[in-house]
Amino acid sequence: MKFTNEHNIPLPLTVWLMHDTYDHNPDPNHISATSLLKPTRQLVLNRRIGDTNIVVDVSTLIASTVGTSLHAGIEAAWSNGCYRKAMMRLEIPAETIARVHINPEPTELREDTIPVYIEQRYSRWLDGFHISGKVDMIAEGTLQDYKSTSTYTYMHNTREEEHRLQGSIYRWLEPTKITSDFISINYIFTDWQKSLARNNPDYPQTRLLSKNVSLMSLEETEYWIRHKLQEFSRFVNADELDIPYCTDEELWLSPPQFRFYGNPEKTDGRSTKNFADYHEAVAHQQAKGKGVVITRMGAPKRCAYCNSYELCSQKNQYFSSPDEEI
Ligand code: SF4
Repeated sequence: MKFTNEHNIPLPLTVWLMHDTYDHNPDPNHISATSLLKPTRQLVLNRRIGDTNIVVDVSTLIASTVGTSLHAGIEAAWSNGCYRKAMMRLEIPAETIARVHINPEPTELREDTIPVYIEQRYSRWLDGFHISGKVDMIAEGTLQDYKSTSTYTYMHNTREEEHRLQGSIYRWLEPTKITSDFISINYIFTDWQKSLARNNPDYPQTRLLSKNVSLMSLEETEYWIRHKLQEFSRFVNADELDIPYCTDEELWLSPPQFRFYGNPEKTDGRSTKNFADYHEAVAHQQAKGKGVVITRMGAPKRCAYCNSYELCSQKNQYFSSPDEEI
């Protein structure tokens, strides 16, 4: 893989973007929990990137680098006893703080210990695959996960199933330490605005928020993983065109929009009225007796973050087709 810097991002920041702290595992039979969550097409094509000379711009690394840095900051706050000082400032009783043990060995656990496991990697073998996952935190048996994301994702609940699966796979990997049947998703909003919070009670009222998501049973989870591994094995060496397409749900595809323009000669600016339903848009056009309805296809948001973008032909149907005129 080769990297470009098309937007002239300054060197201090490009070094930050290129700094890779991920503990890569070169074993071809290894699959990470987060990889299992990807669509099969993306999972299979990701494996082929190493054999290509595809060119990636450093700007595409911004979102993941910001996310990784936020994780590192939280980890630092919980490391080397730093958490004690923070908890004292929060006036948490000293005897409670003394019970907290970070990444305790089994022999260090006492009846009153409050165990907190941070950035630990757990692994298991299944059907010839070595599956592993690094959890953000397990506090008193409950998974804690940090997500730097948009307020849209939170408000429209678009990733809840993915979070449920992620937490379920982690619990399947380490069911003795993860004993709660839910995962706490701790949101760090990247686009939060105080003015929107003031005017909309449904909008997150703070930049940081937590939500619990229930987990699947261990049996259901193992069944799901087994099925995913079978699909991966089936297509790992398949021709690119034969790999199943990412579904609308996997693509985080926004719904299409039907835009009515009163003047058919001026369709490159703002539309006169937008519709979510095609028939309503055409009825409106007929009632007006003029104008044109133009279909704006939904955007597959996942493609923007997909490492396999250059190797994938499916994405062409979204990024090369012009809007359809009715
Ligand atoms: S580029 Fe889009 S369609 Fe292709 S594998 Fe990635 S997410 Fe799926």
